[in-house]
Amino acid sequence: MLFNICKYLEDYPTKNDAEIVNFNIAKIRSMPVQVNQIAIERSETTKINDVDFDNLSFGSVYTDHMLVADFENGAWSVPKVVPYGPIVLDPAAKIFHYGQSIFEGMKAYKDEEGQVWLFRPLDNHARFNKSAQRLAIPELPQEYFIDGLTTLLQVEKDWVPTTPGSSLYVRPFMFASGNGFHASPANAYKFIIALAPSGAYFSGKVKVLIEEHYARAANGGVGYAKAGGNYAAQFYPTQLAADKGYQQVVWTDDSTHEYIEEAGAMNIFVRIGDTLVTAPTSDRILDGITRKSILQLTDHLGIPTEVRKIKVAEVVEAAENGTLKEMFGAGTAAVVSPIAGFGYRGRDYELPELENSYAAMLKAKITDIQYNRAEDKFGWRYKVN
Ligand SMILES: *Cc1c(COP(=O)(O)O)cnc(C)c1O
Repeated sequence: MLFNICKYLEDYPTKNDAEIVNFNIAKIRSMPVQVNQIAIERSETTKINDVDFDNLSFGSVYTDHMLVADFENGAWSVPKVVPYGPIVLDPAAKIFHYGQSIFEGMKAYKDEEGQVWLFRPLDNHARFNKSAQRLAIPELPQEYFIDGLTTLLQVEKDWVPTTPGSSLYVRPFMFASGNGFHASPANAYKFIIALAPSGAYFSGKVKVLIEEHYARAANGGVGYAKAGGNYAAQFYPTQLAADKGYQQVVWTDDSTHEYIEEAGAMNIFVRIGDTLVTAPTSDRILDGITRKSILQLTDHLGIPTEVRKIKVAEVVEAAENGTLKEMFGAGTAAVVSPIAGFGYRGRDYELPELENSYAAMLKAKITDIQYNRAEDKFGWRYKVN
C-alpha cells in the first residue's frame, strides 16, 4: 500500500508531496514494532590491534561492525549488526541531490569495572525522530534504536577506550537511499550506527567571532534538527572566520543579528557576574542534551541561571565593565568548550582566566556521572548489558 503510494509519487511528481508524506508518517507511527533477536553477522577479521588507543584523535578510526536497517515498502527492517564497510548507492539516490539526511552524536563510556554506559540515549532517540519528521524521513522505532545500539555495543565492547577522557563516539544517522531526480521525499532510507573510539576532546580555549552577516538557521527552518545540511552551511562562514584568526563562529539570530544563539555546533553559555545565561531553544537553536543537563545541574547546585535571549550588546558591555566572567560552548563531544575571547565589529575582547570556573566544575560533574564515578541523582546513565 505505502509502496504503491510512493510509486505513484515517483510517477506523478506534481502530486501534493507533503500530503503523501504526512500520510506515510501517520501510517508508520501506528505500526506495531517488535524487536526479536537482532541478527549479528561477525566480521572475519579485526582492526583492533592496529589501533593506538593511547593516541586517539576524534572520530577518525571506526570499529569492526556497524548497525544497519533499511526502510523499504513502507516499513523499517529489524536492524542487523554487520561488518563495518562501504555502502553502495545509486547515483540517483536522493541523499546526493536533496540532502535528506540526519544524524545524532552520543558517546559510550567504560567505568573502572569495565561496564559500558550511555548518557541519556532515549533523549537522543527522541531528537532523532524530531529531526526525521522535519526532513520527511520515516521515524525509527525506539526499540530499533536502543536495542540495536546496545547490541552493537556488546559486540564492540573491547573498542570502548579507557585512557582518561576517552570514549567510544556513537554516530547514528539516516538518509534517503531511494532514487529519483524530482524534488520529493525518497521511498527508501537507510539507518546506520557507526562507532569511533575517540580520545579526550580538548580544543583548548578558542577565540570566536560573533557573526553579523551569515546565519546558521532561520525561523521556520531546520536549525533545531540535526540535519546534515545545517553543518555544510556553517563551513564557509567558519572558514572566513578562521582566515581572520578565529577558531569558531558565534551565531546570532538571522533577522537582527542582535542576539547570540549558538557557538559553532554547540549551545552557548555566558556568565555575567555569578549568573549563567543561555538562550532559549527555538526553531533556530538545537535542544542540546548537554545544555539541558547543565541547566538541571545548576538548578540542583543553586547556581543562578537564566534561560533568556542574550543581546550581543549586553555581552560587549559586560566585557567592557569587567562583569563578563566566562563564555563556553556545550555539546556531547567536548561537554564544555571554554571561550578565551571574542571578536565583534573589528574589536577583540578577552575573557579572564578563572581559578574556579563554572565550565570546569560543570564538566567534572557531568563526566563523573558519565563514567560512573559519581552518584547518578538524575537518572542519566544507561547501562549497556
Ligand atoms: C548537537 C548540537 C548541539 C549539542 O547537542 P548535545 O545533545 O549536547 O550534543 C548544539 N548545537 C548544535 C547546532 C548541534 O548540532
